[in-house]
Amino acid sequence: MLCPSCGGDDLVWRSAVGFGRVSSRRELPRRDSAPRSAAVVDVAEGVRLRAHVVVAGPTEVRAGAQVRFETFRGDGGTLPVFRLDTALATLPY
Ligand SMILES: [Zn+2]
Repeated sequence: MLCPSCGGDDLVWRSAVGFGRVSSRRELPRRDSAPRSAAVVDVAEGVRLRAHVVVAGPTEVRAGAQVRFETFRGDGGTLPVFRLDTALATLPY
């Protein structure tokens, strides 16, 4: 795995509280019980990562949307995802 900015391989693990914001996203072909959008998420600690965003209803995932980390159990096993979080009026950061 390499740094997407400079290509460096001097990476470290960071712990995170699990809250973030969608930076950009694209829709994926719909599959039953599968995560819906591929997104780039900026997490509270300032790290940017690629992940799937899942939604409960027909809500569209937009850039700037608040999301929270969770695990998703689907046909292909358990995946790390973010869930669109409309209940979060204010983020803890
Ligand atoms: Zn770098």
